[in-house]
Amino acid sequence: MSKNLRISFLGGLGEIGKNMTVFEFGDDIIVVDAGLAFPDPDKMPGIDMVVQDITYLIRNKDKVKGYIITHGHEDHIGGLPFALKEVPAPIYASRMTLGLVERKLHEHSGLKVKAVAVRPRAVVKIGAFSVEFIHVNHSIPGSFALAITTPLGTVFHSGDLKIDLTPVDGQPIDLARIGEIGRRGVSLMLCESTNVERPGFTMSETTVGERLDELFEQYKNKRLFITSFASNVHRMQQILDLAQKYKRKVAFLGRSMVAVSDVAIKLGEMKARPENIIDISKLSAFKNEEVLVMLTGSQGEPNAALSRMANGEFGQINLGPDDAVIFSAIAIAGNEGAVADVVNNLIHRGCEVVYERLAAVHVSGHACQEELKIIHSLVRPRNFIPIHGEYKMLKKHCDLAKRMGMPARNVFMADLGECWELSASGLKKVGSVPHGSRLIDGYGAGDVDSSVLRDRQALAEDGICVVGLGYDGKSGDLVSGPDVIMKGLAYAHELEKVIVDIRGVVLDSLTKMPFNGSDINEVRNQIRKDVQNYFQKNFNRRPIVVSMLEKVGQ
Ligand SMILES: [Zn+2]
Ligand SMILES: [Zn+2]
Repeated sequence: MSKNLRISFLGGLGEIGKNMTVFEFGDDIIVVDAGLAFPDPDKMPGIDMVVQDITYLIRNKDKVKGYIITHGHEDHIGGLPFALKEVPAPIYASRMTLGLVERKLHEHSGLKVKAVAVRPRAVVKIGAFSVEFIHVNHSIPGSFALAITTPLGTVFHSGDLKIDLTPVDGQPIDLARIGEIGRRGVSLMLCESTNVERPGFTMSETTVGERLDELFEQYKNKRLFITSFASNVHRMQQILDLAQKYKRKVAFLGRSMVAVSDVAIKLGEMKARPENIIDISKLSAFKNEEVLVMLTGSQGEPNAALSRMANGEFGQINLGPDDAVIFSAIAIAGNEGAVADVVNNLIHRGCEVVYERLAAVHVSGHACQEELKIIHSLVRPRNFIPIHGEYKMLKKHCDLAKRMGMPARNVFMADLGECWELSASGLKKVGSVPHGSRLIDGYGAGDVDSSVLRDRQALAEDGICVVGLGYDGKSGDLVSGPDVIMKGLAYAHELEKVIVDIRGVVLDSLTKMPFNGSDINEVRNQIRKDVQNYFQKNFNRRPIVVSMLEKVGQ
């Protein structure tokens, strides 16, 4: 058995999302992060989320000693319920992260596992590993970088981080500790790459508060709506503080906003006076200038309250010229169109709207180039693999490391499913492990394959036609039907004619392939083929055709 350290990547490379890295030494495995990715709804209609293929963990189930979770964002915790169901092991994370994880596990029919809350600078022995948790700044409290030590040396894993020297909670990133770990010697650094394309520094979260203060002053006579990422507790804290300063009561709206604020207030990560928080149903009892609503929907999500308000479809709240809406979030790539729709609709209703291009009402949670350079110069790793990014970002991060003086032979681009080995002689790629995506539909995992997605796309584009018939099992005579039901097919004006046509087509199919003497599946296929041809020929469409044949009598 190898006594080298093996590192396998099951997610987070070539993508932002479903982060998971597996560390293996002798008989012990620890798993760092278990996130999800949000699917592109055009390519994967109806899919709620995408998580890792964890075949490798299942095969090595007995070795898995724990899950180390860097922080509570969905791309780091969202896959945890699915991983734990098949490979249970204790979870190590901050209290804030565990609060969000426990909520999630509860939703998944009360999965129970051991959870260990760790504090900054704690060192935990897990099998052959010793893991130190290092406080970093990020857009959610309780975020850690990790120093993972084995007899072969230390691996520094950045988690998600930025350098904020004036953070809202007064706890800047523990650069001193990172420097000490670097001085002790780091064999390999895995560092996040989200903002590596951006020059300079990420602004401090507190600068957002200053800008928001100006907006509170500017809109002091209006009802205020502020939308941001639900997990950005420090943003919420700044807004709560401003609400208190301007004597406004705060209502939370949106499932994740309510959930995160609940956990954060309970754990003391967010401070709010109970009398300043009101239920959304009480909104109308206050004057415009006395209330503030914090809500989800900053990404233009069609079902979020904000989108529905913008469309005038949200019963309780009607937006108009007395309202100001502030987007305190950036539109994530791919969501720009949806966000622009919401902004346009709000403006059309007469609202004042502030969104990011107009004002510094959002800062990122991820390190830009100059911050990454500081991390590299403190950690001074012998080897480097960039993580948490699309390929273009990983490549830029490799370039940055080389510009900072790392020899090219020590800078590596890794890919999903690759297994790398750290030994006394250095770092090298040694093979691959099973990897891929599991598509999650509701609470079900792994039961959606590409044929389901193809059907959904066909349904969305071309609709469905169902043909129903009953036949006598003995004589093979047709006893009922053909009945024709169509959904999502746009021939309303000639519906009657189309139905008559299809009946004719089906009766023709039955003369080619009668019930008597034919295999029932062949009859079904014949009908499907013939009806599909009819649509193709007459309408240039390929709806899903389902033929339901019922045997009557024996
Ligand atoms: Zn994050
Ligand atoms: Zn992340």
